[in-house]
Amino acid sequence: MKKIKILFATAELNPIAKTGGLGDVAGALPIALDKLGLDVKIFLPFYGLIDRKKYQAKILKKNIEVKTGSKKEKINIWQINLPGTKIKVLLIEHELFSEKIIYSEKIKIGNKYFTDIEKFSFFSRSVLETAKALNWQPDIIHCQDWHTAIIPAYLKNSNYKNNFFQKTKTIYTIHNLANQGIAKPEIVSFSGLDKNLSVIKADLKNGDINFMVQGILGANIVNTVSKTYAKEILGHYQGAGLDNILKKRKNDLYGIVNGIDTKFFDPQTDKQIYKKYSLKTLKNKTANKTSLQKYLNLPVDKNIPLVGIVTRLVWQKGMELITEKFSQLDCQFVFLGTGQKEYEDHTKKLAKKYPKKFSAQIYFDANLAQKIYAASDMFLVPSRFEPCGLTQMIAMRYGSVPIVRQTGGLADTVDDKVGFSFKKFDSEELYNTIKKALDVYYKAPSQWKKIQITGMKKDFSWNKSAKEYLKLYKKLI
Ligand code: ADP
Repeated sequence: MKKIKILFATAELNPIAKTGGLGDVAGALPIALDKLGLDVKIFLPFYGLIDRKKYQAKILKKNIEVKTGSKKEKINIWQINLPGTKIKVLLIEHELFSEKIIYSEKIKIGNKYFTDIEKFSFFSRSVLETAKALNWQPDIIHCQDWHTAIIPAYLKNSNYKNNFFQKTKTIYTIHNLANQGIAKPEIVSFSGLDKNLSVIKADLKNGDINFMVQGILGANIVNTVSKTYAKEILGHYQGAGLDNILKKRKNDLYGIVNGIDTKFFDPQTDKQIYKKYSLKTLKNKTANKTSLQKYLNLPVDKNIPLVGIVTRLVWQKGMELITEKFSQLDCQFVFLGTGQKEYEDHTKKLAKKYPKKFSAQIYFDANLAQKIYAASDMFLVPSRFEPCGLTQMIAMRYGSVPIVRQTGGLADTVDDKVGFSFKKFDSEELYNTIKKALDVYYKAPSQWKKIQITGMKKDFSWNKSAKEYLKLYKKLI
């Protein structure tokens, strides 16, 4: 039987270029789809930060023409394997992607400045030109988040309609409704889009072009990364201004919870952690805690519970719920994160004032993140909203018990058999929930161990979710 061909278009890819969950999904879902017998190719900008030697990038095609409005640009197409797999990653090379970061406010080329919106609109168009240049006709283009949400509009544009992509269908996955990619109307001519396309006309009514809206209105199927979030975003509170647009696609809107890369996140084999352990050797987890306490200059004490937090420090994540009062709790906290200054400052302030209780590590460090998952007894995710959330699942895999707010994917993945949760976005509620967890930790160790083990045994692999994606793909072909 002919393999279903999936073009996976993404702005992030773990472990090559990642800032958050999108990268994790892009680095893991294609592997699970490949196992199901699909032909998946990942398309990613060739960012300046990607080490071409390390990944043995080889050039496939040079000087492929891509139009932007009235101008013609040239791209080069490179190829690598997704590390540890045979899955092909097509890297698109152009000056717009040459910076050593994934996202930036402004990109200077010559004496002109470009925005990320222009960058990713150009990337989206380059994705199509790359597939054409390689003569690889995908059955489905799977677009991720706002960065590639404009692809369905391109496919409706006169220069792509009725040709190479005639049979190609699109799926649009919303990883986070908070970042929408909003651009001035000029983006239409920059992108070379026809302003008379119905999706463009509908969007321009609001005075701008919203890439996320393009994905929602333009794709054949829309999905998001948990069932609860798929429901929540149809309401005003979680809809981020797009609830009415989403309601229009209600019948084509699905929720599929993310998995995690269980091979990558495995305390039995993880080379980054201080001491490996498994369900059978759970007592070895303690050495991870004491080593990390030492490394972070926290009091070294195997009996005091360590609460881990690994997160982007942004409004969404609810860090302000953790206040000075939390220093009274009989535990230690470690933050690892970067993001908005006010939340960085907030955590730094706590660490400065209560150095025996809080440690604030304000940078991105995937290795330290793994050490924290392994070292912590509890893991906090008090988000305002959370489309899926991966950290609570990774934590459970490492036997760290999650304490989460009941929202989005957190509600779908953490029940009281594996963790603790609270409903209202409120500091007091969080405080009391941690207290409840500490009570079990100190007073009922066997119950605690049972919670830990139940979480560790839970299946968070992508196998189940990949099958659900396959079902969606099959609806279209
Ligand atoms: P989001 O996608 O909203 O950032 P997720 O929970 O879905 O949140 O995914 C976050 C991912 O990014 C996890 O793999 C987490 O470990 C990682 N991460 C976040 N911040 C950091 C950091 N400062 N250093 C290392 N890893 C981080």
